[in-house]
Amino acid sequence: MRKYWLYIEPYVYIDILNDKSQAMLYNTLNKKHFVVSDKETFMLVETLCLEQNLRVIQISQEQNQLPLIKWLRNTYSGDVINVENSAKRPVQFVPELKIKNNIKTTNIVTPYQSIYELSLYLTGKCSSNCIFCNNYYKQFLYCRANIKKELSLEGIKNFFCQLNNETILQINFLGGELLSYSYLNSLLLFFANHKSIKNFIFNIRQIRTIHDFDIFEHYKNNLKITILINTFDKNYIYTLNSVINHLESIGIRCEVLFVIENEKEYSLIKNLHLKQNDKIFPFYNSQDNAFYRNNVFMREQDILNSDNKFIDILRNKTINKNFYGKLIIDTDGSIYTSFNTEKIGVMTDDINIILQQLVSKNSLYNLTRMKVYPCSGCIYRSLCPPISNFELFTKKNDLCFIQSD
Ligand code: SF4
Ligand code: SF4
Repeated sequence: MRKYWLYIEPYVYIDILNDKSQAMLYNTLNKKHFVVSDKETFMLVETLCLEQNLRVIQISQEQNQLPLIKWLRNTYSGDVINVENSAKRPVQFVPELKIKNNIKTTNIVTPYQSIYELSLYLTGKCSSNCIFCNNYYKQFLYCRANIKKELSLEGIKNFFCQLNNETILQINFLGGELLSYSYLNSLLLFFANHKSIKNFIFNIRQIRTIHDFDIFEHYKNNLKITILINTFDKNYIYTLNSVINHLESIGIRCEVLFVIENEKEYSLIKNLHLKQNDKIFPFYNSQDNAFYRNNVFMREQDILNSDNKFIDILRNKTINKNFYGKLIIDTDGSIYTSFNTEKIGVMTDDINIILQQLVSKNSLYNLTRMKVYPCSGCIYRSLCPPISNFELFTKKNDLCFIQSD
């Protein structure tokens, strides 16, 4: 009886649910997928995935007739070779994720544990009265009026020097009214020589007060201005255009982030001729659930057609890239990985204790869909984007239509 070598291409991702009820093969190049539920095919896939097999096994003539084999061939996801033509087992490479300073394999947490992005809330002072000020910042990185404390400049300096700040690629500065921060000039000088991108995040209501961007002269090459828009008032939109034109004329990188709450605002956005860098964030205001569901919830096709590369899928299994390597420091010096969870410490704490918190088993850095209900039992768990503040805020992990589709 004929025998065949069955092999899977290295760009095909395979996942097997823990309860062994299903397996899935997903071709990361052409986005085709095959879900396995029948026992015989499942056992075949399981055998392929055994470490010693390196995704190459011998199959019989009957097994060669299984629908999976046809799918593999039709989608260029794998193939069979007659054993008579290749007595030696074909060699196949199996992709594996290696994380620098891997929090799962590094025993000692040191200041060299990488932090890539630091967000500093400098002041909570703000005279605007946005109705959802208390909610925006829990769903995305956003300005926030709060207790009228200011972040201590000495505290920032001490904390920053304790970190392995060489790994920090971006520092976000937020308020309140950012420019009212009492130590702004000294702060700008302190960070002037650090190579990271300095991202100053203003609400459009505050940016109107900036007449002169010379205060950022030290940062010319590493400067980014992010403008948050949560109003469609014509005067603000007019200001937005003139500010952007001015920033671009003096070579400052600029990003606009719109928060929208309903279909009406969505239609207004369409008339604004957004640029490629501009972002739109649907905001959950607990009132227009239909809008939120229509614009945030994922369907099967959204998940399968997302631009996931193999490395993204492997990463989704291991860490949460929405939180990994990111730290937020509030105006009172409290340190968070998300405003939807408890603080992990304060700036004056021993840095090693903070870093230990960051990498602990239950930290947000490690919060993958493999660990949470109902995603852990869903075959799309590694393809879905990692859990974000939206899920934490709404206390719902499955922002999708998979159960109802
Ligand atoms: S501008 Fe920003 S900080 Fe001020 S009230 Fe509005 S959302 Fe809050
Ligand atoms: S249940 Fe979770 S893993 Fe499955 S599709 Fe929905 S969000 Fe993704």
